[in-house]
Amino acid sequence: MKIIKLHYLLLILIFWSCTENNKPQLENQKQVVERHREAEQNATAKFGIALHGGAGFIKADMMSDSIIQAYQNKLSEAIELGHEILKNGGDAEVAVVEVIQVLEDSPLFNAGKGGVLNANGIHELDASIMHGKTLEAGAVAGIKTVKNPILLAQKIMNESEHVLLSGNGAEEFASNHDLDQVENSYFTTQKAQRALANAQNKSAYHIENYEENIKNYKLGTVGCVALDQKGNLVAGTSTGGMTNKKHGRIGDSPIIGAGNYANNHTCAVSATGHGEYFIKNVVAFDISAMMEYGDFSLEQATQIAIQEKLKNQGGDGGVIAIDFEGNISLEFNTEGMFRAKMDAKGNKEVKLFKE
Ligand code: ASP
Repeated sequence: MKIIKLHYLLLILIFWSCTENNKPQLENQKQVVERHREAEQNATAKFGIALHGGAGFIKADMMSDSIIQAYQNKLSEAIELGHEILKNGGDAEVAVVEVIQVLEDSPLFNAGKGGVLNANGIHELDASIMHGKTLEAGAVAGIKTVKNPILLAQKIMNESEHVLLSGNGAEEFASNHDLDQVENSYFTTQKAQRALANAQNKSAYHIENYEENIKNYKLGTVGCVALDQKGNLVAGTSTGGMTNKKHGRIGDSPIIGAGNYANNHTCAVSATGHGEYFIKNVVAFDISAMMEYGDFSLEQATQIAIQEKLKNQGGDGGVIAIDFEGNISLEFNTEGMFRAKMDAKGNKEVKLFKE
């Protein structure tokens, strides 16, 4: 009888020890499953896109409802187009170029059609693009006839040994590469003409007033930054520059590191605002450098660049930026910035004014 009892006890002990031993295994398995789920989510979460349509003195009470709606619709259309490309596994470069083309073709923005006029009443357009994997870049400055300056910047990046072409040389490169060219008047809108007349009536051309008056304008460049599913970051920017600028003036938009920058190890940045300040502060590269050398997050880096460094000097404007993990920052120190962003889950945000 005693022996049978002992056997029972032994069996119970064996059973108990087995189930106890299984516990950590089960725990481990759960953790593994959870880790896989997370990795899966991250894999699809790892793309995103943001765009801007210019920063400046933009307030709701300065615009009619229908104009607000028109801007919202265009920003929405552009961001959805870019998002669709990325969602289907497309390249960030393709998404950025397509989005910017949509904005360049719209008369609402200061880029391509709708670009502002210089002091001589002529459009001189600037644009750039940079690829974060190769650090290849292409840029154009002071062009007058190329319908979509971003396409020319892309061609220079991919099919020339140079980074930045300007004026006649850039136009020649465009015609040799079969890019659409148009009369300079194609870019003109009534809005741009009125802005020039206003600026000149206020003698904004004289440098002492220029600084003051420029703060009253919506600056209006366009830009797009994207992270694709392969982990590539790309930034693009396109602009007509600033109303009443001197003939030959080149802003920050085609200056790699100032108005545009991308590096797969850090982020992609496109700027808009008073270009001279962005050039002097090398803003786009500075944001990347803060992340690379200072271990700042994207949000911290963009805040320091725009709300501290730039603001302290009186530089107006903002940036859109996306980092290698898909975090997006839309930072500006003006009344408004036309902006939109979309993440991998399809969450979309389109905004014009300060919160
Ligand atoms: N940054 C552009 C320039 O200075 C202007 C703008 O963003 O609206 O040319």
